Amino acid sequence: MKVPREVGKHTRDKVYAENDPYMPPKGKSLVGVAICKDCTAVYHNKKWFLDGKMYEEKKALKDVHWVICPACKKTKENVPGGVVTLKGDFLQEHKQEIMNLIHNEDARSKKYNPLKRIMKINEKGGEIEILTTEGRLAQRLGSILFKAYSGEVEYKKHENTKFMRVEWRR
Ligand SMILES: [Zn+2]
Repeated sequence: MKVPREVGKHTRDKVYAENDPYMPPKGKSLVGVAICKDCTAVYHNKKWFLDGKMYEEKKALKDVHWVICPACKKTKENVPGGVVTLKGDFLQEHKQEIMNLIHNEDARSKKYNPLKRIMKINEKGGEIEILTTEGRLAQRLGSILFKAYSGEVEYKKHENTKFMRVEWRR
């Protein structure tokens, strides 16, 4: 039986949203109301929202900018900000339960910030790979898995980038 451990947790505070080429540069943010053609996220008051009611309301406006939001752009171009890899026998035995936890966190995250979401989930050879639009969400998923199921988690932040690789196994 392995002792539960969280390796590299100290790097967790060092992930910044700066220097993200998918975000508009400072002072050049979108003006007015914009809506993402792909996911219907609404940009309003300098923030993105994923809200059906707001979408219906804003799309009726005359001067809406129809755009592709940074999260959908990253998804299209397959440029994740974080990757979480799940491994181990425990994972296989509790896959449904674990994936429910992951999907719930994705829903919660998107509601709070539509640009912070899961892009894609790949399964290969007993491993599950979760691609996220932001490194911080990958970190959060690792931390949630560790809290819920213990096991081993490792966070690897790449020097000078905000890309985060997380590996959880049990
Ligand atoms: Zn979008």
